[in-house]
Parts: sequence; structure tokens; C-alpha cells
Amino acid sequence: MDLQNRQTPEDICAHYGEDYSKHFGAMSPPIYQTSLFLDGNDYTYSRVSNPTLEVFEKKVAALEHASPGEGGRALTVSSGMAAITTAILSCVRAGEHMIMVRTAYGPARGFARYLERFGIGCTFVHGTRVEDFEEAYRPETKLIYLESPCSAIFELQDLAAVADFARAKGIATVIDNTCATPVYQQPLDFGIDLVVHSATKYFGGHSDAVAGVIVGKGERIARLANERTMWGNAAPPMQGWLLQRGLRTLPVRMKAAMENGLAVARYLEAHPKVERVYYPALESFPQHELYLRQMSGCGGLLSFSPRGSYASRAEMVRRLQVFKKAPSWGGYDSLVCPLGALEPPTEETLLAHDGGVIRLYVGLENIETLLEDLEQALDALD
Ligand code: PLP
Repeated sequence: MDLQNRQTPEDICAHYGEDYSKHFGAMSPPIYQTSLFLDGNDYTYSRVSNPTLEVFEKKVAALEHASPGEGGRALTVSSGMAAITTAILSCVRAGEHMIMVRTAYGPARGFARYLERFGIGCTFVHGTRVEDFEEAYRPETKLIYLESPCSAIFELQDLAAVADFARAKGIATVIDNTCATPVYQQPLDFGIDLVVHSATKYFGGHSDAVAGVIVGKGERIARLANERTMWGNAAPPMQGWLLQRGLRTLPVRMKAAMENGLAVARYLEAHPKVERVYYPALESFPQHELYLRQMSGCGGLLSFSPRGSYASRAEMVRRLQVFKKAPSWGGYDSLVCPLGALEPPTEETLLAHDGGVIRLYVGLENIETLLEDLEQALDALD
């Protein structure tokens, strides 16, 4: 019985893929802070691969069910955006077309628009029905780009149905799985081709590293490994070390994030000054049934639409003491990020943020402290 390599998320993060004998028995792997390796060894040059990054990559591939037997691999790159742009560019060429969900991370949508200058078209769709993709399909469509749940209003796409449609048409599928993490969702199991992550968020987990990762199987990810060398965007060794350290506690942090996230979501749902809460694990979430089918939990990220004037909403955000105003999420620290909710809706916020929401990242602080902070701040709403 090989208990050392058992592949539950907890065991993967703690032990899987380690070779202690390579590092004099060191429990914590060293940082191979080197650009090159002497001829005749397993490594050549750190733009191509580096043993410190590989500790993290083996674990992420296992967490995402990209088994080495099927050519499964994870590739660490310099940011989540690098993962997104590198994965997209690997799937489309001039004259082709892609379909992207309208709720994808803003800069990912910006990149899709940027590609128009190279003759690559993009249609943005709601993506909550598989018919949205069927209707946007053209003979030159080569890529469907998903983000489920999306990180602003948490809309989901039916991964198995979209993957079936894409495979029948010979279209590649890429998903941003940052929000769920492989602890709660494994898109490759539903037939999705490539998974991208902002490792800056939950994987790093401590608001101290910027990195991304691309995961897949077979020929696609083998090609991407060569393309990462060509683009030159492999993450540096120190980032790989921070990521493998952060990853050790991912399952416990995700469990705590779900406990705190759900408690805050339920509190807000019951609050008279809150119009709507966006959190897939709530029974009232419109796609809750789909959530139960393809996810096994939710993290600490959620949004709500407050009642009250724009001025009182701004005052509410100002009054928060523990929830700090900042973008990003996935660390230990609670954050608030108004996504268009402090001013009248624009075309952009109507498209991607349901006209505007307040996004909260519920961190690892004491839940009573967090609820008290919200209570005193929500009092400001008129
Ligand atoms: N994907 C999602 C859902 C994000 O929220 C972010 C960053 O906020 C990114 C991708 C981009 O990641 P990075 O900031 O590491 O480039």
C-alpha cells in the first residue's frame, strides 16, 4: 500500500511528489536559485524547468486530476494573466474565433478584445445555458473560454454540457478555476481541456506571491510547455517555493474559507438592507442545483447588492474596519471591493457585474469579528 502517494487533496498537499532523498532529507525543499544546470543532469535552464517549481507543479497536476500517465502536467507562469494569455494563444490563430463568458475576469476580456488586431474575433456570451455557446458558434470557432464560478457574480457554466458541445465541434475549452480551486472543482473530469489559475490567490494563500499555473493533459500541455519556454514567462524559483509552501495548507484554508464565507452569506441574506447575495452554496442561488452537481464546496469570495443611496454605500465601505478595501483575494485577510456598486450602472458593469455589486473576500479572521464589522458598517445604508 503506497500511503505516501495517496491522492486526497490533503495528502497531495502534504506529501505527494516529494523526493526527500534528492535534498539530503530536507523536509522543506530548497529553492534552486539558479538560472542553469550543468550538462548531463535532468535540468538545463530555469526558463525551461526548475526543480523548485516542479514540487508545486506535481501537486497542482495531481489536485486537478491531470495524471502523469495521461501526460498530465501543470506549468507555473509569472501571473494568472500570463496563464490566461498563454493558454488562449495556444488555442487560436489569425482568422479564427473564440467565445468567452461575459463574466470572465476583466483583463481576460480585455485580452480577447486586444486579439482583434491579430484577426482573432471574440463573441461574449452569458454562458448560463449551453445554447448560448451553440448560438455563438461559427465554423471558425476554435476556443471556448469559461470562468466558473466567475469571481464577481459567481455565475456558473455547465462544464460537462459545454465540454461535450466543444468536443463534438473540435473546439478547445479553457477554464479559469481560480475561484473554486481543485479542492472544490476539477474541470478536467468534466472534459475541459485546459485549466488556468491565478496562483496569486488561494494557492499562494498569503498575499505575498504573484504567479499563475496552466494544467492539462497530453499533447496540448506538452505544446504549452514548449510555448512557455518560447514566451519566456516561467515563474522564478522563489515564487515556486512560496507557492509550494502556500499549497501545503490549501485544503484546511479552503475549509475555513467555506465556513466563514457561508456564515457571512447567510448573515447578509437575512439582512433587511441587502437586496441580493451572490454565493453558489446558498440554497437561494439560482444555479444552486448545478453547483451541487459540479462543485463540492465554495470559498470565501461572495458579493451582495446593498439597498440604499450611492453615498450611503460609500459610507458603508468606509466604515468597515477589518475588511480592507483592496482588489485581489485568496489570502488570510478579509477584503472589500466595490465592483461598480457605488455609482450608477455603466454598459461594462451591466455586462459583467449585474450593474454593480460589493464583493467581499471573507478571510481567516474570527467569524464573530467579521460579522460585527459588517453589522456596524451596514448600519450606514439608508
Ligand atoms: N483570474 C481571476 C478570477 C482573478 O481574479 C485574477 C486576478 O485578480 C486573475 C485571473 C489574474 O491573476 P493575476 O493577478 O495573478 O495575474
